[in-house]
Amino acid sequence: MATQNKVKSINFSLGKKEIDLLTRLCNAVSVSGDEQKVRQIVLEEVQNLADEVKTDALGNVLVTKKGSGPNCLRVMLSGHMDEVGMMIVKESEDGTYEFRVIGGIDPRQLVGKLVLVGRNLVPGVIGAKAIHMTTPEERKVAIPVEQLRIDLGPGAKVAIGDRATFATKLAVLGPSIRSKALDDRLGVFNLIQLLKHAPANVDLFLAFTVQEELGLRGAKVAAFSFDPQIGIALDSTPANDLPFFEGDEENTHYNSHLGAGPAIYLMDGATIGDRRLVNWLTESADAAGIPWQYRQPGTGGTDAGAIHKTRAGVPSVSVSVPQRYLHSAAGLVRKQDVVNTFKLIHTALSRLDPSILNS
Ligand SMILES: [Zn+2]
Repeated sequence: MATQNKVKSINFSLGKKEIDLLTRLCNAVSVSGDEQKVRQIVLEEVQNLADEVKTDALGNVLVTKKGSGPNCLRVMLSGHMDEVGMMIVKESEDGTYEFRVIGGIDPRQLVGKLVLVGRNLVPGVIGAKAIHMTTPEERKVAIPVEQLRIDLGPGAKVAIGDRATFATKLAVLGPSIRSKALDDRLGVFNLIQLLKHAPANVDLFLAFTVQEELGLRGAKVAAFSFDPQIGIALDSTPANDLPFFEGDEENTHYNSHLGAGPAIYLMDGATIGDRRLVNWLTESADAAGIPWQYRQPGTGGTDAGAIHKTRAGVPSVSVSVPQRYLHSAAGLVRKQDVVNTFKLIHTALSRLDPSILNS
């Protein structure tokens, strides 16, 4: 049965070119405060498409693409370049290294994982005592990060302060994509796509931000610099949509569902989604027949948390791709959710009108 949609959305899919770009973005190591590798890819991708490109003092990449009409709204969209990971803090002669976690990682996710350390990607493993040597009591508790070590072997070419990340390479698995850094290379990817298919009715201010995972730090200065009228954070949010295994209780704490479309935020730990913008997004999705879902209210935050409090205030909202196993060695998203997130943002921006701010 054919459905009649009032608005036609852009024709967009994840072909070889798009998957190649996402693979390069996700496999790059870009732990908070050392986003150089992803910044290089972004600068290459945007240089011939933008009106202005600059890298600010903290390392954010700020890209401007002006619309063509007289009444273009100044819209800032952000996607953060950094990812959670680790930092080497102390060296031992036997080639094991003490480290700290950068951003939010559950210590239980660390043990036994393969990692890559430093800009030269030295391979290592986060080791722990073999099961043969542990007591039943020890096996019940997570080992504190301070007691874990990254084992690189003696003579490894790494330095104190080097970042480390999980050694997972991106894989396309049927309808899904699995990677260590979909949070938030998907946002970075969608910003680049937006520049390639820029709607002419708005002034686009694209912020590829740093240090989001440490408290939205890059977005704060990026928003000050852009001085936008509207802010939109593109990110990824947990999909805790697997069944509970205790009793028959329904899982009502899912946050978002894989395959149900982009997750539009009503409220998280850092922002209440601007009502006008939430309605604009849901109406745009409905008009174009794009699936969408509300992101369940809860903790956590996106760059919108910093953007909306900038200067005299910026109406802001977040849109995320739902992801299972966020902030672990292998997050999982559905390709269709990535495509629909881009389609929603593109469709919504294409029908954005300055009158939204008077409503
Ligand atoms: Zn994120």
